[in-house]
Amino acid sequence: MKVLKFGGTSVGTVASLRNLKAIVDSLGEPAVVVVSALGGLTDKLIATAKDASSGNESYKESMTAMAQRHFDIINEMVPDAAKEGVNAQVSELLEQLSAIYTGLFLIRDLPEKSLSQIVSFGERMSSIIVANILNNATHLDSLTFMKTEKWFNRDIASRELTDQLIKQAIKLPLVKTIVTGGFISKDKDSDEITNLGRGGSDYTAALIAASLDADLLEIWTDVDGFMTSDPRIIKSASVIDRMTFIESMELCSYGAKVIYPPTIYPVFHKNIPIKILNTHNPSAPGTLITDHAQSLPSCVRGVSSVKNTAMVMVSGSLASNIAQINSRSYNAMARNGISIFLVAQPENGVAFSIALPQSDAMRAAEILEDEFKPELNSGEVTRIEVEDNLAVLAVVRESIKEIKGLGARLVNTLQRDSISVRAISDGASETTIALVVPGQDADHALALVHDACYL
Ligand code: ASP
Ligand code: MG
Repeated sequence: MKVLKFGGTSVGTVASLRNLKAIVDSLGEPAVVVVSALGGLTDKLIATAKDASSGNESYKESMTAMAQRHFDIINEMVPDAAKEGVNAQVSELLEQLSAIYTGLFLIRDLPEKSLSQIVSFGERMSSIIVANILNNATHLDSLTFMKTEKWFNRDIASRELTDQLIKQAIKLPLVKTIVTGGFISKDKDSDEITNLGRGGSDYTAALIAASLDADLLEIWTDVDGFMTSDPRIIKSASVIDRMTFIESMELCSYGAKVIYPPTIYPVFHKNIPIKILNTHNPSAPGTLITDHAQSLPSCVRGVSSVKNTAMVMVSGSLASNIAQINSRSYNAMARNGISIFLVAQPENGVAFSIALPQSDAMRAAEILEDEFKPELNSGEVTRIEVEDNLAVLAVVRESIKEIKGLGARLVNTLQRDSISVRAISDGASETTIALVVPGQDADHALALVHDACYL
């Protein structure tokens, strides 16, 4: 049994919905289909909420346009016999949505809770529509089984409960294809509507695939697969036919936008392969992600980059204590739910740095100031400072250390073109060499690194 996830661009137009229908109807057996909201709708729902809550009457027009977009698709795609029913269900949801917008307009405020409710309408409507477009399919409301819990003010999937509820809601073998909305969820304690974070539909699909021990998770999107690098920056980038779970996880955490990073873990643990496929080019082979991939003698799997990166630098006379400083910094970040790109400790032992998303940098510096209060008092640590406007590049391949001297070679390549390498990961990772460069050099550096790795 397969789980197929179709992203916003795969459900956003009549033309892509026709492709989706052809793909699912020709499977020859029932499957689970997870869909995103119509392409661009989540952004629109948010923008409209901001308009309404700031007293901008234009929210009414946006609301009408969003409604019309759904009705047009229903009219074009849903068989006549089901049209009236689908129109009624979608109208009911649109009325609820419109009432919430009116409320926000009146109170001139946008509570977090209301925003979570508002964005949920996208997947609630698209899943009903898609269920009625496919042959032999039925709709399942994901709010009944997708549960979250609070973690550092964030909503994260409540794995055990969700797993149980998925198994209760979806009985195998399937007699019909099941269509459900990705991304949306409910808090397990308060029962309020929540979500898994932007791009989270992939994760919904992965959780379902893992619970049901699916044979394959297919992520249908609008690109031909994982590329050796971002094709908008690197013209010579090509599709990667196979890669490992770990490699895909690393590329995604360093900026490859193909799948939502948490997606990989649940299927990785169950050893369920993932295929990345293109709804607009269904015959392209895509990228297959499994626990092994053919070894690459001298080249790497992929190269990615993340802009808006910062470094927090801890300076002082650290040489004798560097291992302890390293582990305490690392743990302090983990305790506070801050994920980091790399840790670098130069050989001279005077500075130690952590690269991380710019948005977390100030908080990270405060946390480290707290952590190293004794050392700041004694003078062992002299300064904790933030440098921003940086980018991190990641060069990914399993057993990357087998390529002797690759890190040094890449640093030389960049320096030859006058790009200053602000930090390089210290070799703790078996899969990734990460390099920090000035933000304005990010694209140029990515091109140089890609060439050095593939030519
Ligand atoms: N519709 C949501 C978003 O735009 C979730 C998703 O598409 O995966 O972020
Ligand atoms: Mg996505």
